[in-house]
Amino acid sequence: MLPIDLRGKRAFVAGVADDRGYGWAIVRALARAGASICVGTWPPTMKIFTKSLERGKLDQELPDGGRIEFERIFPFDAMFDTPDDVPDDVRQDKRYVGLTGYTIQEVADAMRTDFGEGCLDVLVHSLANGPEVHRPLVETSRSGYLTALSASAYSMVSMVQRFGPLMRPGGGVVSLSYLAAERAVPGYGGGMSSAKAALESDTRTLAFEAGRKWGIRVNTISAGPLASRAAKAIGTVDRMLKYYSTNSALEGVQTAEDVGNAAAFLCSPLGAGIAGTTLYVDNGYHALGMAVDPDCHPE
Ligand code: NAD
Repeated sequence: MLPIDLRGKRAFVAGVADDRGYGWAIVRALARAGASICVGTWPPTMKIFTKSLERGKLDQELPDGGRIEFERIFPFDAMFDTPDDVPDDVRQDKRYVGLTGYTIQEVADAMRTDFGEGCLDVLVHSLANGPEVHRPLVETSRSGYLTALSASAYSMVSMVQRFGPLMRPGGGVVSLSYLAAERAVPGYGGGMSSAKAALESDTRTLAFEAGRKWGIRVNTISAGPLASRAAKAIGTVDRMLKYYSTNSALEGVQTAEDVGNAAAFLCSPLGAGIAGTTLYVDNGYHALGMAVDPDCHPE
């Protein structure tokens, strides 16, 4: 038996606010592999997430009988590197009032204080934000474009920069990308396609730099569609799910569990030797050259 064994390892998963997204699926897989898990939750979603947890509304049961437990839940805003970056209107926003220490550097520092140097083995970036995602790229404003890049791509650079020093050699970093990084996908606008392209390119460069500096591996997963809260807000996901399930190499609907398992594998010792790669977990959809047409489908 060749198990994915993450017992004795610690993960920080950024971008978890409910049990419908890829972040939760990754948490679930890491928990099944035995890792201790800390999560970073975007301040505007912090209250609803912690309340849902307290009320037992989230699916914390694991198929093998265990239960998802979190070592820490940090408020975490990937738009800000240090406290000096947080503008007054955000500080005074009612969803931020009462919360402290939510910038990337402060969360890394809190991990160091709580758990010591060399406390981290797995770093997950499962977040994205593009305020103008509904607008075609050609109609996107400069500020909308740069915000999409800042929240969805630079955030990954900053996380590796600030959490990398805490990571033990052999550890793994993984983020979530999407095919729009390399193909035109109507409806995925506002610079989000550009942000995913940056994320994939940065994965290669960060893999080299962080590999040399800390001996850790950086990879990204290009995932198929999932009806997460974020994807529902974009509005095209139901059509995409149908399209993927009709046309992918493997029939059926992409499950979040596949992405969670792939992330756990990439960050585990079984993924040693894999760095700087974009791994497609999309039922083979990315390899499609022509959509299946029921009228001319080869038998
Ligand atoms: P999700 O809603 O579960 O996750 C997105 C998370 O990002 C949310 O928890 C949100 O609170 C958080 N977030 C937004 N802005 C943030 C900020 N400034 N700082 C910290 N957190 C912030 O949705 P998801 O679809 O599971 O998204 C997770 C990742 O998967 C994203 O990178 C997304 O682009 C990627 N992805 C999703 C799909 C899909 O179809 N759902 C497909 C491919 C890739």
